[in-house]
Amino acid sequence: MFRIGKEEAQAAARVIESGSLFRVNSKLHEVENFEKEWAARLNVSHALLLTGGTGALAAALVSIGIGPGDEVIVPAYTFIATPIAVLMAGAVPVIAEVDETLTLDARDVEKKISAHTKAILPVHIQGFPCNMDAITKLAREHGLYVVEDSCQAAGGSYHGKALGSIGDAGTFSFNQAKIITAGEGGAFVTNNDFYYQRAVLYHDCGAAYWSKEVVGGAVPFAGGNLRASEVTGAILRVQLTRLDGILADLRRVKKTMMTALEGVVRFNPSNDPEGDCGTTLAMLCDTPEQAKTLAAAIGGNRPYDTERHVYIHWSSILNKQGAGTEYQNPYRLPQNQGLQTDYSVDMCPQALDVLSRTAYLPLNCDWTDAEVAEKIELIREAAKNL
Ligand SMILES: *Cc1c(COP(=O)(O)O)cnc(C)c1O
Repeated sequence: MFRIGKEEAQAAARVIESGSLFRVNSKLHEVENFEKEWAARLNVSHALLLTGGTGALAAALVSIGIGPGDEVIVPAYTFIATPIAVLMAGAVPVIAEVDETLTLDARDVEKKISAHTKAILPVHIQGFPCNMDAITKLAREHGLYVVEDSCQAAGGSYHGKALGSIGDAGTFSFNQAKIITAGEGGAFVTNNDFYYQRAVLYHDCGAAYWSKEVVGGAVPFAGGNLRASEVTGAILRVQLTRLDGILADLRRVKKTMMTALEGVVRFNPSNDPEGDCGTTLAMLCDTPEQAKTLAAAIGGNRPYDTERHVYIHWSSILNKQGAGTEYQNPYRLPQNQGLQTDYSVDMCPQALDVLSRTAYLPLNCDWTDAEVAEKIELIREAAKNL
């Protein structure tokens, strides 16, 4: 979360005072309006607001028809929700390397494509855009789907296109830790009418009853309930009006720091510096020890130490505990036998190397010029002593 204030409080209060907190037949249409505004912001035909990003990812995979017997390639560095969403669809995650950009390495993805691969799931982690040209090219050549995890990248872009709008479907999270937030929340976006209809069915088991129109060409199936509340919609509509300001200020801070520190530290390369969200300054060191020292000296951290974001800590995946009951565990399904699930902690050495040698400084859009100058000095001093 970066900015929130009385406008969000008033928007939430208006919903409560209306007595209409449910999206279906609501009085204020906050969820519906947010969906329209989010779709317009990303230049896509459909957006669906849900309770969270994990559910949005599962909805995206299910909407496309990914399930048992399918492999989905995910990066070794992402929040554990990404591979878990693959399991929620009944498919299995195949873990691939990230490169110095900290995003999916297309060369390793290519090596991991098998006869069972159905989709590639690039993650724009920390708002760093993935190499979508290389990923899209691979997907086209091998007949694979692309689902973008843009949970940490609201408002980011790649070659001028909104992150999340490039693949077959895109997903966002609006939980407390994300760029814009309602505490919890998520979004699914697509240009495909059929996927949209299936995502609607997945997120709302009552969809076929509330609205005949919603199900369109999709055959109704048993979905669950990941519906967003009108309060969430109202808060997010205000947050959306803040997004461009947040991003402009984050990017200004990042640019100022990178210009001032040119030649002092080495920055992780970016697939699109213009589209980067600017939430994080990433500095690549020669050794893991140097990155640790640098991070400690500047009040930052190493991505290597962020636990659930690094595949070596995905214990439920590595141990193949893919669900709460054995009957739902994708690793037990006959369709998933013989797939690439021979995980080990040393399977992505390049990712571990890059993650351990990178130091992060989380940036703040509300730092004053003096505070930015202070951070620059702090890094300059720390770099001298490495
Ligand atoms: C936050 C996040 C998710 C999950 O979103 P929730 O809203 O917490 O369910 C998925 N992927 C990534 C990369 C995330 O950062």
